[in-house]
Amino acid sequence: MGHNIGLDKRCDVVIVGGGIIGCTAAYYLAKKGFDVILLESGDLASGATGHNIGYIFMHTRIPGPQLDLASATHQMAPGLPDELDYDFELRQNGGMIYFDKEAQLPIMQEFVEQRNKDGVTMQLLDKKEALEMAPVLPESTVGATFCPLDCLVNPTLYVRAFANAARRHGALIRTGAEVIAVNTDKERVTGVKIAEGDIESKYVVLAAGGRTTQLTEKLGLSLGIFAMRLQLMTTAPLEERLLDKCLYGPESAKQYKLFQDLPSYDDEAFRVDYEWRYETLFLQAANQMKAGNMLFGIPMDYPASVEIANTADTRGVGVMVESMYSNFPALKNAAFDRAWGRVVPFTSDSLPVIDFVPEFKGLLINSGHTFGNATGPISGILTAEMIAGEKTSIDISPFSLKRPALDTMAKAW
Ligand SMILES: Cc1cc2nc3c(=O)[nH]c(=O)nc-3n(C[C@H](O)[C@H](O)[C@H](O)COP(=O)(O)OP(=O)(O)OC[C@H]3O[C@@H](n4cnc5c(N)ncnc54)[C@H](O)[C@@H]3O)c2cc1C
Repeated sequence: MGHNIGLDKRCDVVIVGGGIIGCTAAYYLAKKGFDVILLESGDLASGATGHNIGYIFMHTRIPGPQLDLASATHQMAPGLPDELDYDFELRQNGGMIYFDKEAQLPIMQEFVEQRNKDGVTMQLLDKKEALEMAPVLPESTVGATFCPLDCLVNPTLYVRAFANAARRHGALIRTGAEVIAVNTDKERVTGVKIAEGDIESKYVVLAAGGRTTQLTEKLGLSLGIFAMRLQLMTTAPLEERLLDKCLYGPESAKQYKLFQDLPSYDDEAFRVDYEWRYETLFLQAANQMKAGNMLFGIPMDYPASVEIANTADTRGVGVMVESMYSNFPALKNAAFDRAWGRVVPFTSDSLPVIDFVPEFKGLLINSGHTFGNATGPISGILTAEMIAGEKTSIDISPFSLKRPALDTMAKAW
């Protein structure tokens, strides 16, 4: 069907947001034959997805619906470059959490045992094995956990892969198109409003990431989706290849419920002074991209206002540079390229919302994704199945808008 995006434009489904969630939904809906228009206020991947560190991380996924979502995407991942006919730099090399204090060893041992019981394959590496797997690691490394299931993607290319494939199936993708409001008539959606006018549709999918609630608030809805800011920096391309896996540092462990719930867990063992000096939570993470630059992060403001979210700040840059400088001698002379921040949505149970809004027929929320690389493709499949009225590939009840966990705001990674 031809798309002339005039004011009289009609389609089956308008999708708001051109990150991984919106673009996967566009692809799977268009593939089923729906007439789709995706509207993105900036460029594709200009939100959190295109600025993330690129992990499809299974290592710390909580058993149950969180792990189910990630596993579904993980199973699909190897086939996606061919299916989408796009190289998004998928690397299936596994992921590590290294640690550098003897006091952390029993906790990491218990973590590995627990993960294997959960069905997430994992092993504990000694120092020699860890350094061989990740030459970037410092001499102070005591060991590392290793999960072969973790993968890397180039997140901007990941979004483009789905967007291009959606276009091939007839979807129209319009960038620079801010959705000002969702239009409704009594108890159903009728489309959306952009600067040029209205676009009519039977369904509207809100995949606007950390800004989804700006649109739902205008409809008088409260979703239980909140925003945090994550920051990242990149070096210029390095001459050496020092890392080809997802790499988390010991600081990251303590941010995860899976660690905190272990009987051996001791917060003291993971404390680093620069977190309190820079007054920021820190999820130490690194990824050397195929182009050779090292992505390094991740300071977190939790929760954060959406207004500050697209910038890095001096606290964030300070903690990233200090952590890189003091922990990774191999990166001491790396050229600093740039740093940024992006808003990421979260819910108190760390699960997205993928549900129709009962108050407005035809309105589907697909947002609240904190691990969008891992949840994106499966959430797109679920969205398409829900709009087609089909039985969904996995049980969607944990992603309901009406679940009690959404009544409060709590950190639950
Ligand atoms: C530094 C950092 C590191 C991260 N690392 C990882 C990781 O390794 N692995 C992982 O799985 N996740 C990671 N994440 C989280 C991940 O990026 C998010 O879970 C994911 O990007 C969410 O995807 P999304 O499509 O919902 O949001 P986004 O990618 O933010 O897309 C939403 C889009 O909607 C657009 N939009 C908003 N409002 C409107 C409107 N009114 N009209 C039109 N368009 C609108 C925005 O411009 C944006 O492009 C990280 C995030 C950051 C910031």
